[in-house]
Amino acid sequence: MQVQRVVLNSRPGKNGAPVPENFRLEETTLVPDLKDGEVLVRTLCLSVDPYMRCRMNEDPGVDYVAPWQLSESVDGGGVGVVESSRCSTCSEGGVVTSFNWPWQTYAVMKGSVLQKVDPQLVDGHLSYLLGAVGMTGLTALLGVREKGNVIQGANQTMVVSGAAGACGSIAGQFGRLDGCVRVVGICGSDEKCRALVDDLGFSAAINYRQEDVPTRLKEHCPDGIDVYFDNVGGAISDTVIAQMNRDSHVILCGQISQYNKDVPYPPPLSEEIHETLRRKNITRERFMVLNYMHKAEAALCELSQRVKSGQINVLETVVNGIENMGDAFCSMMKGGNIGKQIIKISE
Ligand code: NDP
Repeated sequence: MQVQRVVLNSRPGKNGAPVPENFRLEETTLVPDLKDGEVLVRTLCLSVDPYMRCRMNEDPGVDYVAPWQLSESVDGGGVGVVESSRCSTCSEGGVVTSFNWPWQTYAVMKGSVLQKVDPQLVDGHLSYLLGAVGMTGLTALLGVREKGNVIQGANQTMVVSGAAGACGSIAGQFGRLDGCVRVVGICGSDEKCRALVDDLGFSAAINYRQEDVPTRLKEHCPDGIDVYFDNVGGAISDTVIAQMNRDSHVILCGQISQYNKDVPYPPPLSEEIHETLRRKNITRERFMVLNYMHKAEAALCELSQRVKSGQINVLETVVNGIENMGDAFCSMMKGGNIGKQIIKISE
């Protein structure tokens, strides 16, 4: 059968912004000749995520992901349906997901790398399995719970950067549900600010491209900042940390403002910020969702219930067609998405 796939065409270089031309669409022939344990899957939707930027480098600089190879299929989070199976745990018609789904319209995969999912978990909205009821939802929920020290009734203020993205949009809602009296989001457009306040219940939002972040933070956080969910790092995070209270907590989730630079992860802080952290006894522990997979099942149950009951609202930006994978990835890296960036491959 003829299938389409996306391969890595070139590397942006450690100090370059990725461009759609770094990816190439190919037609190829797939022989659906299954061996024992294999399944043929049809791809329904794919995820693009910031961590993929380091997979574009020859040396990803971290030990938990491998680099993508030139002219080979790119892979990441995906959801699909089993078309035919020679694996006892995967039945035809079943919905399956994997963190290593090839960017292909159809693929032959080992059944052992696929997780079966019950579509009821997301009321049939299968793309949520890549976002709010998947990896980014887990990152938000577990990040807040493991590193945020949010306490009901403690009158805490939370700030979230990258607030209108997949993780940030859910993290802020959990901050509020778990007891913060004020949740302020920082993001890159007025449209995103409106979505945070009107659709997701944030107390206020700051457009860092248009507004003076230190001034607006002071206005919106009159009692200082107790919890900071950091998705971006760099100058925005330095500004937030400068306004944090004594004994407060940074959830070090990501540092996307530094991903197109040749710096280690997490990128080094200035001596001044180190001094602020020390002087005010602010914790800033690195959070890695992969270290909490033993808590994933219970957390996914909670995410599913909260989404179904409407306590957590989900935002997505959906693009159609495998030919748009590269565009969608580059757009997400520059802020083109509101909520989770999803690419729909087939119905
Ligand atoms: P998002 O959906 O948040 O998309 C990325 C967003 O980052 C863009 O929409 C853009 O929004 C923002 N952004 C891009 N460049 C900059 C910049 N220079 N300064 C400020 N904001 C910028 O992606 P995810 O929710 O998937 O990921 C968010 C963060 O969480 C990333 O840092 C990622 O690496 C991290 N992460 C960490 C995990 C962990 O286990 N620790 C797991 C998953 C994700 P805007 O318009 O606001 O600029």
